[in-house]
Amino acid sequence: MKPVVKKTALASIVVAGIAVATAMAAEEASLNVGEVNVYSYRQPFLVQPLFEAFTAQSGIKVNVLFAKTGLVERLKQEGANSPADLIFTVDVGRLSEAYAAALTQPVVSPALAAAIPDIYREPDGHWYGLTRRARIIYASRDRIAPNEAPKTYEELADPKWRGRICTRSGNHVYQVGLTAAMVAHYGEARTEAWLKGIKQNLARKPQGNDRAQVKAIKEGECDIALGNHYYYVLMQQNKEQAAWAKAVYPVFPTIGGSGTHVNISGMALTKASPNQENAVKLMEFLAGPMAQQMYAEQNYEYPILDGVPETSALKAMGPMISDSLPLADISRHRSAAIKLVDKVGYND
Ligand code: FE
Repeated sequence: MKPVVKKTALASIVVAGIAVATAMAAEEASLNVGEVNVYSYRQPFLVQPLFEAFTAQSGIKVNVLFAKTGLVERLKQEGANSPADLIFTVDVGRLSEAYAAALTQPVVSPALAAAIPDIYREPDGHWYGLTRRARIIYASRDRIAPNEAPKTYEELADPKWRGRICTRSGNHVYQVGLTAAMVAHYGEARTEAWLKGIKQNLARKPQGNDRAQVKAIKEGECDIALGNHYYYVLMQQNKEQAAWAKAVYPVFPTIGGSGTHVNISGMALTKASPNQENAVKLMEFLAGPMAQQMYAEQNYEYPILDGVPETSALKAMGPMISDSLPLADISRHRSAAIKLVDKVGYND
């Protein structure tokens, strides 16, 4: 055992504006070696059952600090004194951001390398994907015949869809991810033309979240929308939103002749991690068959580990073949994507 690492208790570090849904243990003692401290952008109810399963198996306690925003900034401020071992995100953008800010460290683990395909991890091990989230097209059941629906993201810029598309803000991480993937496939000039084309096809100013776009289809405002795949299942399970889901069908478009654009939820080991050994154990557990199965069942996401079955709800949506470009290459184009969104005035 390593000596006890005394760090400032998390509860004593209060950063204004950060909503702490699940406070980490207040006592300094809880940050001893023998535990793992996680900063999570993932909602507690999604990760808690996984951490409980890990604790049951390993005896290692997991403390979670959840926030919707600001965790990367917080890591920066805390520097070498940060009690965090791991950062969990629902988007590759924030993982890349933490990596670019030198807040992560490489993890070399044969178990992780075997479980996680190389297109879903940073080449040196600075971050790893845990689940895949497809960005799909939702098409109106009443107004678009399946053979007419766009089969590619590229087609969304076709003038034949004038006034018929709804999307959320072009600056949202989900949209930025897709635009960055376009840049990775086609370069900036063609992506700019693509963004302009979609903007011209919008039925309304970008607004709302993914589900709000499907609602707009139900209400007749538009016929095509972009959204993450798991919302289809979540809407079906929601009393009010089931009718929205009924108004659409999912289409898994391709990009650059490859597959559907996916983003990842993922994890990174922090540079200052005081409990590295245990943190890596947790990382390996989450990439293993049991945790991957739990992820798939609870969150309706696509597992990252080969051989873990998709849930029946996902199977019912149809086959998903994902884009084969490495996410590390895609996320490199995120800042270019954001600039293009501004340049074409996508949100205006
Ligand atoms: Fe989401």
